[in-house]
Amino acid sequence: MNCCGPEGVGVLDRVERRAGGRISALALVGPPNSGKSTLFNRLTGLRQKVANYPGVTVEQRSGKMRGIGRNDLTLIDLPGIHSLTSYSEDAKVAIDVLHGRMQGAQTPDAVLLVLDALQLNRQLMLAGPVLALGLPTLVLLNMSDLMQSRGGEIDPLALARELGAPVALISASKGTGLEAVASFAARLTGGAGEQAQAAQLPVLQNPASCRQWAAQVSSRTKYKAPHSRGWTPKLDNLLLHKIWGPLIFLVVVAGVFQVVFSAGLPLSDWMTAVLTRWGAAAAQSVPYPWLQLLLRDGIWNGVQAVLVFLPQILLLFLLIGVLEDSGYLARAALIADRVMRSIGLNGKAFIPLLSAYACAVPAIMATRTIENKRDRMATILVAPFMTCSARLPIYTLMIAAFIPNRRILGNFFGLRAAVMLSLYLLGFLAALATARLLKSSILKANSAPFILELPQYRWPTLRSMGLRLLDRGSVFVKQTGTVILAVTFILWVLSILPFHHGAASSLTESVIGRLGHSIEPLIRPLGFNWKIGIGLLSSIIAREVIVGTLGTLYGADPATQSLTLQSALRHDMTLGGAVALVVFFAFAMQCTSTLAVVRRETNSWRWPLAQFLYMSVLAYGAALAANQILSHIH
Ligand code: GDP
Repeated sequence: MNCCGPEGVGVLDRVERRAGGRISALALVGPPNSGKSTLFNRLTGLRQKVANYPGVTVEQRSGKMRGIGRNDLTLIDLPGIHSLTSYSEDAKVAIDVLHGRMQGAQTPDAVLLVLDALQLNRQLMLAGPVLALGLPTLVLLNMSDLMQSRGGEIDPLALARELGAPVALISASKGTGLEAVASFAARLTGGAGEQAQAAQLPVLQNPASCRQWAAQVSSRTKYKAPHSRGWTPKLDNLLLHKIWGPLIFLVVVAGVFQVVFSAGLPLSDWMTAVLTRWGAAAAQSVPYPWLQLLLRDGIWNGVQAVLVFLPQILLLFLLIGVLEDSGYLARAALIADRVMRSIGLNGKAFIPLLSAYACAVPAIMATRTIENKRDRMATILVAPFMTCSARLPIYTLMIAAFIPNRRILGNFFGLRAAVMLSLYLLGFLAALATARLLKSSILKANSAPFILELPQYRWPTLRSMGLRLLDRGSVFVKQTGTVILAVTFILWVLSILPFHHGAASSLTESVIGRLGHSIEPLIRPLGFNWKIGIGLLSSIIAREVIVGTLGTLYGADPATQSLTLQSALRHDMTLGGAVALVVFFAFAMQCTSTLAVVRRETNSWRWPLAQFLYMSVLAYGAALAANQILSHIH
C-alpha cells in the first residue's frame, strides 16, 4: 500500500472548497500518547459527540472548536496511529477519513498533526505521509513544557522550512501555544488556503523510507532530544530490572486487585443502598400502584443494575489511568508480555483480565489500551470467564449448603475455601483454553508490526484523570444503560404477564414461570428442577439475581416454607446437581450488562451472541458431565 501521495478527486474537491474559504472540518492526527486527547479536550471543551464509525470498533469523536472560539469549525479526532500504512483497523479508519472515504464521517479540509516533541526522531515518521496527503497541515510539537524543563532544543522555523508546513510548539496540558491553532484556522477560513505541501516532499513509499527521511530532517533542524537526566532511565533500571521488575510488577498488580476488591465492593453496596432508597422514594411519590410497580420493578431496577457498577468502574479507571499516564503501564505490559504471549495474548491484556475478577464490564472497557484488534477481541471474549464478584452470592450459598466445614491445612485452610479456590481456578483455566483456541483459529494474528513505545515517566495530572473518568463514566451510563433498560423491562413484563382479572400473575404462573417449567426436561439431566430453571432464566439479567429468585420460590412453596434456603436446597437437590449448578455459573454468560458492553465495544451483535452461545454450550456440557459423573459415584 502506498502510504503517501495525494489522492485524486476528494483532495481536488477540498482544494476548491478551501479556495472559497468554505472550511468546515479539521482532523486531529498523531501517534498514541502524543497528547491528542488532551489537545482535543482543550480545543473542543467538554461538548463532544462520541459514536462508532459504521461497521468497525473504532470510536469516532468530534466537537466544535469552542476552546479557541470557533463554533463554526468541527474537529475530528482520529485514532492514534504510527503510520499511514493500513496494518491496523485504526490506521484504516484514519486513512479513510483523511481521504474522505469514510461513510458517515465528515471529510476534513485540513489537518492538525500532533507530535510528542520529546521523541521527535521517531514521531516525525508520521509527518511525511500525513503532509504528503496534500491537505493544509499545522504541525504541533506537544509537551513543550517538558521539552524546556528537560533541556531539549528544537528550531520550529527550521523544521517548518524542511516540512513546508507551519510548525508550533505547544503544551496541550498547560494550554500554551494554542494561538497558533487559532491563527491557522483563521488563515484557512479567510480563503488564504495553504499550499498543498506534497510537491515539496519526496514521495515516501514505505515505513523504512519514512524513517530515513525522519532522521535526516531532525538532524538538519538541529533537534536535540531532552537529556534523560530526569527519572526515566533511573526508574527503568529498577522497574525493568530482571529480578526487581517482575517483583514490583506483582506488587502493583496485587495492589490494584486488592483496592478494587476491598474498596469496590463496599462502594457498590453503598451505591445499591442509595439507589434502592431513591427508587422507593420515587415510586412512593406516584399515585397509582401499577405505575409504582412499573417504575420500581420495570424501569428503576434496570437503571440500578447498571449504576451499581459505576463506582467500581470509576475506581478501576482511575487506577489504570494513573498507571497509564505515569508511564508504568507500558513497562508492565512489557513485563507481562512473555507470559501472556505463551497463551496467545498480548502483555496489555493483563490488566483487563485482572480487573475482570471484580467485574467483566469495566474489564472489557479497559481493553481499549490494547491496540492490536485481534488481541483486544480475544481478551474481550475470555474476560467473562474470570470469576467476577456477581458469582460470589451463588457460590457462597451452594458451598454453605453442600460442603461440610472441614479443615484441610490446620487452621488456615478449610474444605470450603478449597472449593471456592477451585471455582476461581476453573474460570481461569476456561479463559486460558478459550484464548488459545481463539488465537489459533479465527483470531490468529497476521504478522502485524507491534510497536510498544516506552514513554517518559511523568506525573499524571488531575485534569487528565478527571476528564478520563467523566468520559468513561458517561459513555458507559448512556450507551450500556439504554440496552439494559430495554432488556430488564421486557423480562419484568414477562414475569407479571398474563393478567388474571386485572391482577398480575404470580411468578410461577407468569410467562417466565411457565418457561421455567417448560425447560425442565432440558435441565433435568443436569440435576436441576423447575425452580432452578426459573432461577437460571432470571439470572440471565445478572448472575446474582438467582439467589433472590430461589429465595422467593422456596419461600412460597408450602413444603419448604419453614426451612432456610440452604436446608431447602439440600432437601431438593443432590450433591451432583449442586456441583453442576456452580459449574454452570462458572462458565455461563449470564449478564446482560456484559453482553451490552461487548456489543458496544465490538460495534456488532455478532460477537456478544457468539460469546453467549459458546459459553452456554460449555456451561451446559460441563454441568451435565459433573452431575452424571457424581450421581454415578454416589
Ligand atoms: P493521546 O494518547 O495522544 O490521546 O494522549 P493523551 O492526551 O492521553 O496524553 C498522554 C499523557 O500525556 C497524559 O498523561 C497527558 O496528561 C500528558 N500530556 C499531554 N499533553 C501534555 C503536555 O503538553 N505536557 C505534559 N507535561 N503532559 C502532557
